Amino acid sequence: MPTDNEFTRILSWPGYRVYRHEIDEKAKTLQLWVRRKRGNRKIECGGCGRKFTEIYDIGERAVRDLPWSEFRVTVFIEVYRVKCPDCGVKREKVPLLPGKAPFSKRFEDAVGLACESAPARRVARQFGLAESTVRAIDLRYLERWDRARRKPALRQMGVDEIHLGKKQKFLTVVCNLETGEPLWFGRERKKETLDEYFRTALSGRQRRGIEAACVDMWEPFRLSIEQWVPNCRIVYDKFHVMQHANAAVDEVRRAEFFRKGGRWRGLVKGKRWLLLTRWVNLTSGKRRELNALFALNRRLLKAYLLKESLDRLWEYRYEGAMLRYLQSWIEQLRWQRLRPFQKLAEMLLDHLEGILNYCRTKVPLGVVEAVNGNIKALLRRGRGYKNLRYLLLKAQRMAATKTEFLVLQKAA
Ligand SMILES: [Zn+2]
Repeated sequence: MPTDNEFTRILSWPGYRVYRHEIDEKAKTLQLWVRRKRGNRKIECGGCGRKFTEIYDIGERAVRDLPWSEFRVTVFIEVYRVKCPDCGVKREKVPLLPGKAPFSKRFEDAVGLACESAPARRVARQFGLAESTVRAIDLRYLERWDRARRKPALRQMGVDEIHLGKKQKFLTVVCNLETGEPLWFGRERKKETLDEYFRTALSGRQRRGIEAACVDMWEPFRLSIEQWVPNCRIVYDKFHVMQHANAAVDEVRRAEFFRKGGRWRGLVKGKRWLLLTRWVNLTSGKRRELNALFALNRRLLKAYLLKESLDRLWEYRYEGAMLRYLQSWIEQLRWQRLRPFQKLAEMLLDHLEGILNYCRTKVPLGVVEAVNGNIKALLRRGRGYKNLRYLLLKAQRMAATKTEFLVLQKAA
């Protein structure tokens, strides 16, 4: 049987030593009682950090620590209270114990780390904890990480919205285009939503530092940006414009579906996804399927080709060339009687400056889309993100560790 001294070395809690232990081999539990080593006289108020030499009284806390082999470890630690002139009688600050919860810091770090690659349900099973406890630990782990890190300046921002469903409707997402990190979430997608971000999350100096914003052609966002960051260049990015182009293809598909009846309906049915996927991303089998569809319906073919050719607009680096390409694209619409595309063309002309701004201010393509995709993946996997702060931290950590972000960026 190891001695307390050996237990102290294995536990290795800086400044603390084991003075008693109990092992239950049946239940597979190990209990250790620790107190300060003689030389450790650093006592700080847990409220304000003020240093003390006198203690008010001594108490004990039980916390779970990392497992030793198959043994679940509980550490009983002696903690002091101090009588602080500012905070009153207060527990001392112990770096090994990050909060009031009955876990050591390194135990919480291990749970948080596990949550980066597995859903809370699985982590809960792995550590023998309730799922809600795992989420609470993960949130604290992320908050600690967030407090300790440096936050890069915001020069290029992306604004997007995510549709959460019928009840919760929209989530407005602000991100940093240079780091691919989401910065802020707001409920709904009104002008007031984005106003709140500019008002509460940024100082005047930070606002003035913003050079460009990638947004959807959604009026309320534009109005908010023009009010709060008048010098910022608005760029309508490819991702958002192509979303509208996809919507136009879908509208044509639905119109054709209803115009023709019977057998034809069966053919178009379930082809929505095919029509919204880019040709380069389709397998040869899927391409054959689409071609068979187009052979029967010229209007769908035309709509699909229009969408595909609009995609190439962002290959142009000079605004003159970009404008000429857009004009010739609009020219193709003549005599086609494709109402959804005519509406799209009008929209593009109304927002021409912002589209051409892509040539004037280089913003990375695909970031807004990737951030959006990461958040949706988190929502799908985690379900219960009622706490938006938790969702945001989770997405930020994901961007910082670049795990899934890179994968999505490649696909974009
Ligand atoms: Zn204090």
